[in-house]
Amino acid sequence: MVTKRIDAHVHGKPPTCKDEGKRFVDQYRSLGIDKIVLIEDPDVVLKALEVCGDFVIPVFRIKADIATPNEIETYFKMGCKGIKFIAPYHPYSDPRYLELYQVIAEQDGVAVFHTGYLTHQDYQIYTHVNLFDMAPAHLDAIARQVPNLRMLMSHYGNPWWDEAWKVSYSHPNIYADLSGGTAYIRSMMLWKELFAPNGNLHLPSVEKLCFASDIVYFDPELNIQPYYDFYDTLLGGIGAGKELADKINYGNASRLFKLED
Ligand SMILES: [Zn+2]
Repeated sequence: MVTKRIDAHVHGKPPTCKDEGKRFVDQYRSLGIDKIVLIEDPDVVLKALEVCGDFVIPVFRIKADIATPNEIETYFKMGCKGIKFIAPYHPYSDPRYLELYQVIAEQDGVAVFHTGYLTHQDYQIYTHVNLFDMAPAHLDAIARQVPNLRMLMSHYGNPWWDEAWKVSYSHPNIYADLSGGTAYIRSMMLWKELFAPNGNLHLPSVEKLCFASDIVYFDPELNIQPYYDFYDTLLGGIGAGKELADKINYGNASRLFKLED
């Protein structure tokens, strides 16, 4: 039996019509992906929602340096369940962004943060970026000011794994994923050291994880198997039981985005 999962961090251009959407959704669900947290610009996510229905958990990517609280409120009225922050011009915990976080908390949404390393693609994009502005420690600072804000720390702070580990389990509303091109290529030794030190499962950190890939969906080339292998090997290797694994594969993202309400 395939494991049912929510992929809590993905990208992709939506299918062109409902028929094509249904074909993709059927294919992904047969692979165990029941839903995806799709992170794109608002129009792209809305189109995907239209053609793929509840397969898509909509998260809108915004530019934090020009966005306003009103704009964010409007996005929630349009149906988004979360707001994605990436490549800020100032540290995530800078007071100038606080009102944005407050409005997301008021709207009962999720703030999704890119944390850690960000590609420059041959110096074509994100040339203003300072990685320190996207360090996990900023989420700790935000949680101290807006403790009811639910956050998803994407990419586990790559490469500030230790910092991400400490921050994510120290705040009830900070969840984290191991998505992206780096975490899954690190050795199991590293992850076992974090999540099961001396062979003892460290539940407070493990139970805050969400399954996520950061790959591009609606693309025939999609290959999610390496992420399945990585998460399954990790969870097996640290001795996580079925109930805990289900939480990580599905339950945490479902609760975070309040799907059962
Ligand atoms: Zn991403």
